[in-house]
Amino acid sequence: MKKIILAVVSMLMMFSCNSTQERSSDPEGFIYSVHGKMDISELGIALTHEHVMSQFGAEPAYVSDYDKELLFRQVIPYLKEVKALGINTIFDCTTVYFGRNVSLLKEMADSSGIELITNTGYYAGAKDRYVPESAYESTSEEIAEIWIDEFENGIDHTGIKPGFIKLAYDDGDPSEIDSKLFIAGIHAHLATGLTLAVHTGDNPQAIEKQLQLLEEFGVSTSAWVWVHACNTKSDSLLLAVAKTGAWISLDKFKAPQVEDYISNIKLLKQEGFLDQILLSHDGNSFPRGGDIRGYQSVITHLVPALEESGFSTEEMNQILVVNPQNAFRVRVRKKS
Ligand SMILES: [Zn+2]
Repeated sequence: MKKIILAVVSMLMMFSCNSTQERSSDPEGFIYSVHGKMDISELGIALTHEHVMSQFGAEPAYVSDYDKELLFRQVIPYLKEVKALGINTIFDCTTVYFGRNVSLLKEMADSSGIELITNTGYYAGAKDRYVPESAYESTSEEIAEIWIDEFENGIDHTGIKPGFIKLAYDDGDPSEIDSKLFIAGIHAHLATGLTLAVHTGDNPQAIEKQLQLLEEFGVSTSAWVWVHACNTKSDSLLLAVAKTGAWISLDKFKAPQVEDYISNIKLLKQEGFLDQILLSHDGNSFPRGGDIRGYQSVITHLVPALEESGFSTEEMNQILVVNPQNAFRVRVRKKS
């Protein structure tokens, strides 16, 4: 693993950061929430990687059926608690075939007061279990058309539009289907300006592959979120990827990991990458037959600990409010 990391880190040095201009705040920007077009300045404190509900472990289904009564009984009070903590927006990362149900998401946003943002794209983690058969037979362009259509015309006649593109790489060497879907994501980004949030984790080969493809298609790395970057133990990989201008998503926070998170955030800040950090929990408030996997502890545990270790209110605002705005503000990001 160490050898691979070293090779990838030295390769990443070739990518230059061209994102300074991309990161300037633009009050004119927008994103789509389940309620339609939303001014990006209204995002507020945003958790950029959670699952309000998902069907992890269940059979794939195009639109997932939930026991609505059970779902609402478990999740609405929880969303209200989260809202009371000051969180305004949640990016829901559950894709189609993996439990996405946008009509229910909208009802839940209405009942709880939390703004929810859904996605387009396919989830090719979990050994591709939630990738539809049709994706194997279609070209990247044909797959992209489906996602672009959701952006332009709404998802399944609901009128609800996606606010970002969610994709995934499995562990190990990048597979053909994972890269085909990533290329479809690039086409969809170029047509829509939606950001690519890609489940990658501690996989230097998948990082290298994605950065190469972005380069090949002339897309800026600031259109790409390294999802589950917190899984890596390698500071050099973390910094090398940050240096490319990508978004670093530290998104599996749980209270016992507070020291690890603080040391990663301090390191990124020290090296000048504070404005590329995204925080979240990868929580899930309606797992099948299970308890809520929470998404409050960034606010209840991490923020106070960061403040204690010297982070200013302005820096906290940068991470929790400004960075999500800049990462997900809809616009095409071509490499300059
Ligand atoms: Zn997730």
